[in-house]
Amino acid sequence: MVNRDEIKYSRDNTRIVNVGDVAIGGSNPISVQSMAKIATTDVTGVLDQIERAHRAGCDIFRVSVPDMDSAKSLAEIVKNSPIPIVADIHFDYKLALASLESNVHKLRINPGNIGSAERVKIVANEAMSRDVPIRIGVNAGSLPKDILRKYGKPCADALVESAEREIFILREIGFENIVISMKSSSPMMTLEANMKFSQKYDYPLHIGVTESGFGMQGIVASTVGMTMILSAGIGNTIRVSLTEPPENEVRAAREILRFLDLRRYWVRLISCPTCARCKVDLPDIANRVWDGVKDIKKDIEIAVMCCIVNGPGEASDADIGVACGKNVGLIFKNGKEIAKVNYNEIVSVLLDEIGNLE
Ligand code: SF4
Repeated sequence: MVNRDEIKYSRDNTRIVNVGDVAIGGSNPISVQSMAKIATTDVTGVLDQIERAHRAGCDIFRVSVPDMDSAKSLAEIVKNSPIPIVADIHFDYKLALASLESNVHKLRINPGNIGSAERVKIVANEAMSRDVPIRIGVNAGSLPKDILRKYGKPCADALVESAEREIFILREIGFENIVISMKSSSPMMTLEANMKFSQKYDYPLHIGVTESGFGMQGIVASTVGMTMILSAGIGNTIRVSLTEPPENEVRAAREILRFLDLRRYWVRLISCPTCARCKVDLPDIANRVWDGVKDIKKDIEIAVMCCIVNGPGEASDADIGVACGKNVGLIFKNGKEIAKVNYNEIVSVLLDEIGNLE
């Protein structure tokens, strides 16, 4: 494993790549990405997923392009999307060319299956003429066969070599508008590959733990992997891959960034785990408050608490909070108790007060 002090190119001294109006790299904020989960030809459905992801805080959205109809559908998606669109290309370089025709803001190609150097150069020349960046997206599950043979199995060095090979091809025609990702379902392999790469290259890095799963396990796997990488000073853009709707990926990503103090612009909800002292249905209150605030862009803390043990302390430490007793809630704002309300009013009063906060 690489020593953190040996990393030459950390997040802030990577080069900058523009994806539509979102800048990746250098000291730009770490951007959040997600991906469509339905057929690209279902333009209305994809735009709906984009809209929901965008509301949750997505900066860049990726769409798979498995065939020509999908590539053509991208034109309508790009035209109506509020955020930049990335075309995800595997196997057929002509799909990349057609996606450029549809005005996508970035291409993602997979070195393991995009084909010969000549085909990559044809795509890169067209991308260069349109000022469109390319992400070289290396996956442990689809490494080039010769690299897999050389190393025997997927490993960090194989991921880096696969990325390097593609970089050299693009550099031969002077193409430097590059973002790199090296992903594996193993957080440790992903970390090692990204650290090794950052010793040598200043291209911005897209970070993710691929196929991390769904629900709690997927979120924990992504959080463990990304926390290690982001804490090492690496990573300019992230995607949490979950077997869930795009907006859930975005919410998970922004929480990771928030807890690492890398981007703080979303509401944080603190709630007590409950115990025998709790005299209200606190999970219900916390869930209803969360539903009302989960996509609000405010850097504030809300505490939904029970009982006198920790309730008043946590509620008054937060920007806004409630300490619940039997049939009653004490509402705190900026450290002061401002109201005593009935159980049925707790959620509505909290949401009103949150709406009034600057
Ligand atoms: Fe239990 Fe009170 Fe702590 Fe909640 S705040 S876990 S009810 S002691």
